[in-house]
Amino acid sequence: MQTRQTNGTTSAMGQRVKVEVQPGETLRFPPRCVNCGNEAAGAMRLHKRRGRVTREIDAPLCADCRHELQRLSGEEERWRRMGWFFGALAFVLAVIVFLLLLPGWLAFMPRLLLAAILAGSVGMLVVVYFRRNSVKYARPEKHAVRNAAQLHDFSWRATTFEFENEAFAREFVELNREKLIETENRD
Ligand SMILES: [Zn+2]
Repeated sequence: MQTRQTNGTTSAMGQRVKVEVQPGETLRFPPRCVNCGNEAAGAMRLHKRRGRVTREIDAPLCADCRHELQRLSGEEERWRRMGWFFGALAFVLAVIVFLLLLPGWLAFMPRLLLAAILAGSVGMLVVVYFRRNSVKYARPEKHAVRNAAQLHDFSWRATTFEFENEAFAREFVELNREKLIETENRD
């Protein structure tokens, strides 16, 4: 294992840290908020999806930053409400379409039930779409917290984190030195 340091400018925007870790193994995080450095009082779940596999790791967060994550801007709330509205609309339309499409030899009640189940997933897709989109309209403070730590990439044996706070990144590297593969300044 080798530590590689590239692009050694001090004004870099963040640090990428690649560590050897497999699902089920635990990493050690500094007991401080990954965003502001205050005492940790909770966690932010980092997600990364590749194909059908999702990796989730909890990073420490202070009470204030956790609260910030849960706050919705007016625009976020509007997008979520639109999501419920269009989700419900899509559900009703999809029930009608599926009722027409499903084979006529099915009795009406099973046909309705099946149509409702299929339409339910259509409606949920719409709700999820609007909810994903709403994140774009979050307050800048929330964006900062979300960007403070991210899962950049993972494989079956390694995970790459991105930390905005270089001091936090350095401490994380120290705590997990035996698992470290490489660190890299991100520009
Ligand atoms: Zn904080």
